[in-house]
Amino acid sequence: MPYRPVHEPRRDDCPWCGSKRLRTRLRAPDLRLRRPGLFALDECRDCAHVFQNPRLTSEGLELYAAEENRPVDRGRLLATARTMLRFPEPESWLDVGTGDAPFPAAARELFAYTAFDGVDPTRRAERARVAGRLDEAHVGQLTEPQVLSRLRGRYDVVSMLHHLEHTRDPRRELAAALTALRPGGHLLLELPDPASAFARVLGKWWHSYDQPRHLHLITLANLRSELEARGCEIVLTDRRAAHAPLDLAAAVSLYADRTRVPRAAGSLSAPAAALDHLLAPVLRRTRFSNAYRIVARRG
Ligand SMILES: [Zn+2]
Repeated sequence: MPYRPVHEPRRDDCPWCGSKRLRTRLRAPDLRLRRPGLFALDECRDCAHVFQNPRLTSEGLELYAAEENRPVDRGRLLATARTMLRFPEPESWLDVGTGDAPFPAAARELFAYTAFDGVDPTRRAERARVAGRLDEAHVGQLTEPQVLSRLRGRYDVVSMLHHLEHTRDPRRELAAALTALRPGGHLLLELPDPASAFARVLGKWWHSYDQPRHLHLITLANLRSELEARGCEIVLTDRRAAHAPLDLAAAVSLYADRTRVPRAAGSLSAPAAALDHLLAPVLRRTRFSNAYRIVARRG
């Protein structure tokens, strides 16, 4: 088999704004799956975009891909879905990067008359359809012409929850999402916030860095202007509600895995998780909030 490189060449400009004023923000190994390699995240001094550099190739991404089998927090998914209750009831909703479709499964409880479709590169979406969690499953990437041509202008809501950070070209993903929306439809986005103070405090132990699986960490300001430039109206931005209280517990668990001291993890993870929840009401109002949500209306 021919050798396929895992990394692309290192780039010397920001993939978001083209600036050459870059600095290395972080170097980290694969702390979660402990596969070999060291990865770097660069930060643009002009627009604050954070990105993996050098970036993994598609082959590299496959090598480090994780089957997401973290427990599903149904309450959080319901809270995210509830964001859309203030808008007219959608007839059709597309969840992008849906995996096993836990989000449509939860959102159905609030939107009983909405048809939920999902798109995912794996066969998991198809299994979710068979299990009744999706009405239609589309296997592939939304940006692929053969997928997108079927979905053009069909949806009242398109959701991308913690999806853009995994993609090679977030702008292309946004364009595809807007193409799938009908004019006046809503795009619901949730992303990790690279401006979170937890990123600075926890460094490589911050779960949202998740190297090498996160390729782009987009700032709220950058995403906002990108959507506006594409003719969208920003209906809502929210850091408080999007905060997921798990930074300390996740850091303790990554640290314990890395240092192979499971006993320490056992004794520390419960208090860390308790602290995450205890502090959440305060932290979500501060720069420690670890994620943000945007709802944009297609023009
Ligand atoms: Zn930039």
